[in-house]
Amino acid sequence: MNCSEAQRLLYDYLNGELEQLDLSRVESHLKVCSSCLRTFEFERRFQSLFVDRIPEETAPPELRSAILDRIDQLEQPRTSFPLSRKRPFFRPALVLAPIGLVVVFLAIVLFTSDANRKEPLDILLQNHIRAESSTEGLIYSSSDPQSVSSHLERELGFQTSLAAYARSGAILKGGEVLQICNCKVGLAYFSTHEVGISLFICRQGELTCPQMETVSYRNREYHFASIREFNLLVWEEEGLKFIAVSRHRREALLDFADRRA
Ligand SMILES: [Zn+2]
Repeated sequence: MNCSEAQRLLYDYLNGELEQLDLSRVESHLKVCSSCLRTFEFERRFQSLFVDRIPEETAPPELRSAILDRIDQLEQPRTSFPLSRKRPFFRPALVLAPIGLVVVFLAIVLFTSDANRKEPLDILLQNHIRAESSTEGLIYSSSDPQSVSSHLERELGFQTSLAAYARSGAILKGGEVLQICNCKVGLAYFSTHEVGISLFICRQGELTCPQMETVSYRNREYHFASIREFNLLVWEEEGLKFIAVSRHRREALLDFADRRA
C-alpha cells in the first residue's frame, strides 16, 4: 500500500468501516510510514474532539421544537393538521376559543336579561346622563317654560305645572316625553349653577322607586336615594309624581323642589 491509497482509506479506517483485509494493509503501512501515521493521528484527535463537542453544541429543546414546528408548517398544507410528535398537545387557540365563545354567550344572555329587568331608576338615570351630555339631544329644545310644558302636556295628557320649577335660577333647557315601563313620563331638563337637573313627571302611583329614604323638608315629605354620583328626589303633588335626578347635593335638590311653593 502506498501513501495515497492509505490517505484514501483514512476516514473509513477512523470510522471503523474497513474490511479486515484493508484494515490490515492500512495498519501495516502506518507501521512503516511516519508521515501517514502523523496524519492519521491528527485526524483521529481532531475527530474525537469534534465528536466530543457535539452534545454541547445541541440546540436547546425549545429552539429545536420551534424549528421543527416551523419546518412542519412549511411542509404541510395550511389546512392539514399534522400529527407530528413535535407539536405540543396543548394548543392555546383550540382550548381558549370555545371558552371565549361560552363567555360571550353568557355575557349576551346576562346583558339581555338585565336590560329586560331594568329598574325604572336605572332608566331615569340613563336619560338624565343623556340630557347632561347634550341638551340638543332633547326632542323639544326650548328655555320657555310655557312652550315646553304645553309641548309635554299635549303628549302626556295631563297638566305639569312645569313653570313653577323654572323660577329663580333654574334655567329650563328643554324636554321630551318618554315611555318607561308602560308609563308616559315627561322629562324637563333644567340647569342650575351649571349642574343639570332632570325633572321626570308622571301620574301618581306610576314608576315605583323602591329603597328610598323618607325626608321631611319645610313640612313636606320627600323620598331620597343616592345612586353612584347621582342624587334622586321624589315627591308627589296634585296626583302627579315628580322625580328629580342630578349631581346636585340633597339640599340643593330639596331647594329646587320647594320652589313650586
Ligand atoms: Zn504513507
